[in-house]
Amino acid sequence: MAGADTSLQPSPKKAPSPKGDEEGVIVCPYCGDNVPSLVPVAAGMKIGLQENAQLSAVPDTVCAGCYSILTKMVSKGAALRAQQQAKEQNRLMLWRNRVNLVKKAKELLAQKSYAESAVQYEKYLRVLELVYDKKPGELSPELFASGSRQQEMTVVASVYWDLMRIYDQSPRYKDRQMTAAKKLAEFARFTPIFPHIMRKAEGLSRTGKNADVYRFFVKASNKNRPRCFIATAAFDGYESPTVTDLRQFRDRVLRRSRCGRIATRLYYRVSPRLAGWIDRAPSPLRAVLRQALRFVAALTRPLASSPRSFQEKPAIKRRENSQ
Ligand SMILES: [Zn+2]
Repeated sequence: MAGADTSLQPSPKKAPSPKGDEEGVIVCPYCGDNVPSLVPVAAGMKIGLQENAQLSAVPDTVCAGCYSILTKMVSKGAALRAQQQAKEQNRLMLWRNRVNLVKKAKELLAQKSYAESAVQYEKYLRVLELVYDKKPGELSPELFASGSRQQEMTVVASVYWDLMRIYDQSPRYKDRQMTAAKKLAEFARFTPIFPHIMRKAEGLSRTGKNADVYRFFVKASNKNRPRCFIATAAFDGYESPTVTDLRQFRDRVLRRSRCGRIATRLYYRVSPRLAGWIDRAPSPLRAVLRQALRFVAALTRPLASSPRSFQEKPAIKRRENSQ
């Protein structure tokens, strides 16, 4: 190793081998071969090599052969990193751009450029699939369950809904329309636009070109349909405790009497429109409504748990509670 010390000089050719009997022969500290000269390994190159876990302790100088191998390793690692970085960047760019895709699609739809609009919408869905590492058609509501992603879920639902209507242009697109309908049936009930979509879909299941696709959608969605429209709209969802309380009150108390059933039916006639209005209402107003509904739910809770005592009371009381 003593020979290696002298070879630290930039031009090792001139460095004499202090102890060696064979004059001008240097040992490469990396491969151990006898070589005519050594080349210094630059600090930047060493850092690049340190990122390669398979390499340990690269000496300060190596022979020309080792140097060229190490250079290739550095550039290979850098290329791989650059590739990965580009992929990530591409993903990020797509993610940021997705909003523009939806905007563009809506514009095109407004201009009645249906085919172009559908292309933009489908692109948006592809972006989501890419970002969430999903195969085509594999987006699911669970991906958007966390609070910050709920808004995206509403966008996804509105995209499937627009696609459904675009593909209704012709029986040729029925397959695509059905695909959108199936996905929408999965997503819609978790979003505040659900009452609006259901109302429209029910109309289109009579007047649409591919009316049976709408009928399929309505049927599939009805399986888990939230009926407390107002509460659902105020709470942005179906699963909150207040909504559950009100639902139980409807099922356990109101449905058991004729007046209760009439009150329920009346409520369902007016509530989708009200719910749509609540959807667009400013959030302070919704907060007030939430408080009111919590209060009503608290009132109904004991009634729902002991329905018999309630049945003896007059029906007017029930109507108040159902509002
Ligand atoms: Zn070497």
